[in-house]
Amino acid sequence: MEVSDQIGERFVRMSREEIARFQGEALKSSVAQAAKSPWYAAKFKEIGLEPGDINSADDITKLPFTTKDDLRLSYPAGMLAVEPERIIRMHTSSGTTGKPTAIFHTREDVDCWAELMARCLYIAGARSHDIFQNMSGYGLFTGGLGLHYGAERLGMWCIPAGAGNTARQILLIRDFHVTVIHATPSYAMHVAERMVQDGEDPKRLGIKIAALGAEPYTDEMRVKLQDLYGFKVFNSYGLSEMNGPGVAFECEVQKGMHAWEDGYLFEIINPDTLEPAKEGEVGELVMTTLRRDGMPILRYRTRDLTRMLPGDCPCGIAHVRLGRMVGRSDDMLIVRGVNVFPSQIEEVLMRHKWLGGNYVIHLTKKEALDQMTVKVEIAKSSFDGSIDTLRHQRADLRKELREQVGFGVDVDIVEPGSLPASEGKATRVIDERG
Ligand code: AMP
Ligand code: ZN
Repeated sequence: MEVSDQIGERFVRMSREEIARFQGEALKSSVAQAAKSPWYAAKFKEIGLEPGDINSADDITKLPFTTKDDLRLSYPAGMLAVEPERIIRMHTSSGTTGKPTAIFHTREDVDCWAELMARCLYIAGARSHDIFQNMSGYGLFTGGLGLHYGAERLGMWCIPAGAGNTARQILLIRDFHVTVIHATPSYAMHVAERMVQDGEDPKRLGIKIAALGAEPYTDEMRVKLQDLYGFKVFNSYGLSEMNGPGVAFECEVQKGMHAWEDGYLFEIINPDTLEPAKEGEVGELVMTTLRRDGMPILRYRTRDLTRMLPGDCPCGIAHVRLGRMVGRSDDMLIVRGVNVFPSQIEEVLMRHKWLGGNYVIHLTKKEALDQMTVKVEIAKSSFDGSIDTLRHQRADLRKELREQVGFGVDVDIVEPGSLPASEGKATRVIDERG
């Protein structure tokens, strides 16, 4: 297969006008396809909508939103829109509580997903001669097979290492001269810190490109990882409901993630009013599948908070760019009445070279008052060992955190490797307020 076919180049190179035209047509057929599922057939009947009422991309607002609850209510197969024999794969979302949500793919859907994923890796600079190690979990989690199919489609030498077993990960990277990796940022940090603790230099691994995603992380975390490994980090965004990875990805410019508008229709809404957010404003990302037959999903409320970046990308790709995710609306903490995202804490921590990359935010209550303690590992290599230095640095850190969130935060500096290590999505908050 030619590179242009591997990555769907005719889609990648679309102009704004071509994207608009394509989306109008694709939305019409996606809605018609969705109407074949019991769930959407009932939904359309309830609100009196005929698929024929949708004639352009602007008509999207006539469609109902779909929520995580809808996916649970329609579980297991209420949104299936084709004959079951056409399905060749299913995945579920990584939620650990309650019923999972199941997503179904036809052969064409899996093919399209691989194309979307291949182009993500391509715009970050990966090529067929690269050696790719996928350090994320396989199985129902989409970070495994999702990345895998994309990387294979691009023709890379793929190592399906899966999650965990850090010693083996390092061995494989070394012995097979891996140049491209995929992992969660927290796991990539863990691997680097393990190496540093063992007196090894992650830079010597020679990795060039790291596709990191599946959880929120700050630009400060990206910089820290790039310094440790000497590779370039590319933010990778996706969610199982929208296939998985392959939704949006950073190009070589590393300023925002191109969101593939031939695959999805993107909206940013104000989560309270459900109206479109003002241009460039942060809001909830809402997505509609445009190229999935097995299980189309219309106006899915992702709960992920981000914004669309204004202006053209110097790389020449016209697909809209999403900013770094601020967090999920359900990740927002309310501490002493103040809204705090874990990413605000991370931003401050990662600016300090003497700190490592692993941290936990611990919330407790003391006489009815919320207490926030940030536990963070020290980076021994950049610390001179004096108690006095530690005291000063800790005081500075507390001051910066107070400035960031507006209330006093306790700081607990702990030994490297003493906080639970993450293999997949890191748990950053422990809330014991009851
Ligand atoms: P899953 O259910 O496993 O598919 O998880 C999808 C969720 O992971 C998304 O809805 C986001 O909340 C989160 N996520 C994935 N990629 C990123 C990213 N690059 N930045 C921030 N959050 C992400
Ligand atoms: Zn670009």
